[in-house]
Amino acid sequence: MRKPIIAGNWKMHKTSSETKEFILELLNNFSELENVEVVICPPFTSLETAANLLKGSNIKLGAQNVHYEKSGAFTGEVAPDMLKDLGVDYCIIGHSERRQYFGETDETVNKKVKAVLEVGIIPIMCVGETLSERENGETESVCKTQVTEGLKGLTAEEIKKVVIAYEPVWAIGTGKSATKEDADETIGYIRKVVEEIAGKEVADAIRIQYGGSVKPENITSYMEMPQIDGALVGGASLQVKSFLEIAKF
Ligand code: PGA
Repeated sequence: MRKPIIAGNWKMHKTSSETKEFILELLNNFSELENVEVVICPPFTSLETAANLLKGSNIKLGAQNVHYEKSGAFTGEVAPDMLKDLGVDYCIIGHSERRQYFGETDETVNKKVKAVLEVGIIPIMCVGETLSERENGETESVCKTQVTEGLKGLTAEEIKKVVIAYEPVWAIGTGKSATKEDADETIGYIRKVVEEIAGKEVADAIRIQYGGSVKPENITSYMEMPQIDGALVGGASLQVKSFLEIAKF
């Protein structure tokens, strides 16, 4: 059925030399995990180092952002092709920190999702409600809008490839993780939204992760839940030991 995916989002952490150190230690301790896909997402400046070291392993490489244009006068931006050329397999898109601090909208998320799919990179599209939206009972409507707008104009075949990360904003970096029941319920709801858009076959196949204060101590409880297909891990992905413990859930 759906192969779980554990992805480490390093955010703005680790230089290229620290990346090298991390990956060498990771590879030394990593025994092939058959039933899970493992991805690390370092900053842009570490991607080439990471790509070279990961070659031949079955650990996948992800970027944390991308621009949707193919090329041009966009100072400071990175195009999908540039990532593909380095050997990037995945790209996180629309993380709440990008929506909050860098003006990303459902519209730019949609453009970026399309742009990476076009070059053969799999988007990890992030959605999730803020604390006030949750308190106002808007969790489902917020997720529905973000999912619908983010996937707008994609074919069913394209949607099937996308990974969605459900990350309640109040759970990110706060140590306050969602209960496994809450996470499972919202992810089940997101799957229904995908079904309305692209049909049951796609909804059954698409992978939806949970993210927000995932740690070695709570990963097993999320992974027992029927709707949750893995995790997007921030803080706990920065140490080899905790990241591996999570990947081996
Ligand atoms: P966290 O971050 O695990 O540190 O809460 C998750 C994320 O932002 O992807």
